[in-house]
Amino acid sequence: MHLKGCDANHTIDAMQCPRDHTDLDYRHQENALGYVCETCQGIYLPTKSVKWFDNTYQTNVLESLFLKQQIAKPSILCPNCNCFMPTVDFGDAEIDICRHCKSIWFDQYEVTETLKQMRTAYSHKDSLAVLLLEILAGLTGISA
Ligand SMILES: [Zn+2]
Ligand SMILES: [Zn+2]
Repeated sequence: MHLKGCDANHTIDAMQCPRDHTDLDYRHQENALGYVCETCQGIYLPTKSVKWFDNTYQTNVLESLFLKQQIAKPSILCPNCNCFMPTVDFGDAEIDICRHCKSIWFDQYEVTETLKQMRTAYSHKDSLAVLLLEILAGLTGISA
């Protein structure tokens, strides 16, 4: 495998899963787009989708996640820019965030489990995390 450095301006045609390095599959639903790993069912939400989410819901999702949550040691590299993605708490799960190109990686388990928990635990259906998870579930066809 070709190793390259962290480069926030770099864009890759065929993105690979940061966990198993198989090619990611492009998916979209209405205005939300993402990349799904057929192998581990992980989901990559690129910069464009994060920006769309922020514009649509008048928020700054990455900033709010960073402000609220404790950051753990990065374990994976961003599929887009190859920078380390710090792990942050997301509900009762963990997600990986790229600060350089402003994108998010979700393991499949995190999406399904967190969505299930949040739908039952939170009365405020409009919470940021639930909205984001609904979009992700739509991209993958998960019905939690
Ligand atoms: Zn994978
Ligand atoms: Zn990145």
